[in-house]
Amino acid sequence: EKITIAIDGFSSTGKSTVAKQLAKELGYVYVDTGAMYRAVTLFAMRKSYIDDDGFDKEGLVNDLSQIRLRFVFNPEAGFAEMYLNDENVEKEIRQMEVSRFVSQVAAVPQVREILVAQQQEMGREKGIVMDGRDIGTVVFPDAELKIFMTASAEERAQRRFKELQERGEEVTYAAVLENVQQRDELDTTRKDSPLVKAEDAIEIDNSHLTLAGQFEKILELYEG
Ligand code: C5P
Repeated sequence: EKITIAIDGFSSTGKSTVAKQLAKELGYVYVDTGAMYRAVTLFAMRKSYIDDDGFDKEGLVNDLSQIRLRFVFNPEAGFAEMYLNDENVEKEIRQMEVSRFVSQVAAVPQVREILVAQQQEMGREKGIVMDGRDIGTVVFPDAELKIFMTASAEERAQRRFKELQERGEEVTYAAVLENVQQRDELDTTRKDSPLVKAEDAIEIDNSHLTLAGQFEKILELYEG
């Protein structure tokens, strides 16, 4: 029988890699909710509602009805890609530039309200693996399996740095570590749905676990 699986945790814990793999193995749908917050952030950046000089929240909130998000499965990539108003923004939303602003956008209650509603709609049918920050606490408090992934900030920054380098982005490890720490801070201290472990979530610290090790652990939990 199909269930709902919530995978939450800090950024760059490798959540999405494990969640994707798990969905594939089980024949479940995978939803990356971070991509949705990133796409809204990209929209806000393009409209100049957010930059280094400030954030016009009201401007963004007034325009939220213009934002249409969609996941479209790409058989070549083997996962669904993010579309913002019919444009494939999968690559763009992963850029460091978006990471720098996303936690501010994700702290806006009206943004969360809309995205949470869309996520609940996507998960109306069971057989879903959803990855994010508030899936086990807010989006699907009744999820049958909840995982909370952690790893040290340094470990996560190292992984993220490698990823960005491989993609040819010019970044330093120090800048990536700072971004990871800033997002942790913003994500855990925001008033609306801060990042916390759900009481009934199972914590996995993967600082010293390989991808295969993590996957095995979660699969074991799934099989109960
Ligand atoms: O998972 P990812 O790192 O791509 O998420 C980007 C940002 O989106 C997070 O740092 C967080 O601020 C926000 N987010 C959130 N709630 C979610 C998923 C992501 O606030 N469910």
